Amino acid sequence: MQVDDIDLVKKIQQRKKALGRELIILTHHYQRSDVVDLGDYAGDSFSLSQTAASDQNARYIVFCGVHFMAESAAILAQPGQTVQTPDPAAGCWMSDMADPYIVKKAWEKIMAIAGENHVTPMAYMNSEAAIKALCGRHDGIVCTSSNAAAAFAWALERREKIFFLPDEHLGRNTADRLGIPEEAMILWDPYKPLGGNTEAGIKKAVVILWKGHCLVHTRFTVGHIREKRRAFPDAEVVTHPECTRSVIRESDAVGSTSFIVNYTQNAAPGSTIVIGTEINLIRRLAAEHPDKTIVPLYDSLCPNMARINLDNLLTVLENPGRLNVVTVDDTVKKEARGALDNMLSLKA
Ligand code: SF4
Repeated sequence: MQVDDIDLVKKIQQRKKALGRELIILTHHYQRSDVVDLGDYAGDSFSLSQTAASDQNARYIVFCGVHFMAESAAILAQPGQTVQTPDPAAGCWMSDMADPYIVKKAWEKIMAIAGENHVTPMAYMNSEAAIKALCGRHDGIVCTSSNAAAAFAWALERREKIFFLPDEHLGRNTADRLGIPEEAMILWDPYKPLGGNTEAGIKKAVVILWKGHCLVHTRFTVGHIREKRRAFPDAEVVTHPECTRSVIRESDAVGSTSFIVNYTQNAAPGSTIVIGTEINLIRRLAAEHPDKTIVPLYDSLCPNMARINLDNLLTVLENPGRLNVVTVDDTVKKEARGALDNMLSLKA
């Protein structure tokens, strides 16, 4: 650590001490280690938001992650809690691929063809609050990468079709897992008329997948897996469900960020694990488990997550409840909350 960074760490620790239990710093698994080390909780976006909202003492929630995560925390926050982000420009490419206005237009077209009450909208957590609100307005649901299969089952018990967004890969991999045949899935490309489909195709489809993806997780290829298997013949390969279907099929285990953390923790000492997810998490897991060989499938960094640093973290801590406050319109919050509540009703 550089001299300047040591100074920043000291100042952040002083601010934490001064604010005491009124402050909670949440750090997503993909944050840099120096940021995670200063946080109160590390985890995935939803578990962090829940943790903060259930803390009766926390007035100031500082979310070290990307914007949709801080927005989710603001939706779940109790009255009197403020959510701040160290950098409001820390967005998410995947979330940006589903513009709320364009999604609303697509939804109206799908409804006009498939008929009212035949489609359930389902938003991955990695989406703007307005997208979650659209789901809430139409009896839809939000899901995470941990509970996507349960959310699909919930939706298909109610209506015969799912409109899933914004990650086509999580949607496709979940549908595969549930045995939904390929011919029952269509892709909705927002830049083509009818999403690039025919009316007959939309009527026949069970799953309509929004054409969006995570650039961090779609960098991994089958070639990377084969290369690592040659170098580490005894390794287990574990990947995230935002990866492409071909990568998922070549993996030994697939699961959410929390699944990958638990998988690594539970692996026997001496084992070798090749991991396909964001590089900061892999580096931290390698440092925390020196008794195991942890190998990145490929170095894939999320530059959006990397916008959060000691400098901008200190700046928000010097302005508690004032700077970079993340707010969500009350109507949007209420409707998005409905879709989140449907997710919370899912059986584990
Ligand atoms: Fe978005 Fe992908 Fe970065 Fe996650 S890793 S914040 S989905 S761009």
